[in-house]
Amino acid sequence: MSQRHLGALTMSTDPVLSEADAARLASRRQLPPPVPAYLPTGPNSPLAVGKELYSKIQSAPRVLEQSFTIPIRSGKAWTASAGSISSSAHRLTPSRNQHNPSERFWASRTRQLHSTHLTTHDRLWSCLPYMRPLLTILSDSLSWYGTDSNGGRVHDLLGTRCDPYINHLLSGGQSYDHHCHSNLVRAVSEFGLEERDVHDVINLFQVTGLDEKGRYCMSACPAEKGDYIEFLAEVDVLMGLSTCPGGDLSLWGFGADSEKEMEKCCRPLKVEVFRLEDGGLLEREGWRKAEVSGYKGGHGLGA
Ligand SMILES: [Zn+2]
Repeated sequence: MSQRHLGALTMSTDPVLSEADAARLASRRQLPPPVPAYLPTGPNSPLAVGKELYSKIQSAPRVLEQSFTIPIRSGKAWTASAGSISSSAHRLTPSRNQHNPSERFWASRTRQLHSTHLTTHDRLWSCLPYMRPLLTILSDSLSWYGTDSNGGRVHDLLGTRCDPYINHLLSGGQSYDHHCHSNLVRAVSEFGLEERDVHDVINLFQVTGLDEKGRYCMSACPAEKGDYIEFLAEVDVLMGLSTCPGGDLSLWGFGADSEKEMEKCCRPLKVEVFRLEDGGLLEREGWRKAEVSGYKGGHGLGA
């Protein structure tokens, strides 16, 4: 109900440059092209996933442990043990340490370590002072999408979830209780958690990008029935999912008159959680539960 107002508030951001500023800008433009800051330095880099191992895990026989369908414009949370696989056709999944709500998904560090949009063998990392992979993407049926003609990519880490606060602010006072944030608040409440425990998300299946001025843009989701994404839990995690009230964004444009219209592109989503049939496979193949970063310093406080 809010985002379409962003366009109405847009003003020209082209700067009028002084001579001195223009000279500084010209000197910056002589810089060499940058390279990615966090490329793996070798096969043993913490950023490098053993593709052979993860392919073997992905294709190994499984036993279904949980299966449920989430209705439109709602949310649900579930636990997934280390080494289990969560498979879902869904939009949003924050995750956190199942035993410690303070260790939670950190979107901006994950974006730096991998990309603005994630796919197979990328990982979802936890916040400080933990800094370890919570999940690894095992499989992604939309890995073919790449970069579209608008520069859009799928599985968005640029943006965050929709919420009732920005909606109220930008809409002139509307109240709506089924934004993704609210759906997740209700979902985690079943695990004794509160609104403050809802944290960074990934917008699964959502196509986003930046326009020529760096502004956040969204396009219709390319997912069809049967599309899915799968995660291997690297530690015991609590995962949550909201079925966004914006649906697949093909009818996007919140507002009193369009909320009902958008419901037509909302879909219920299925989640399945599996364990591997061969309980010893992970250990035999060298997989280990993720460990927190080894930094034990005191940030110089005691020096
Ligand atoms: Zn949403």
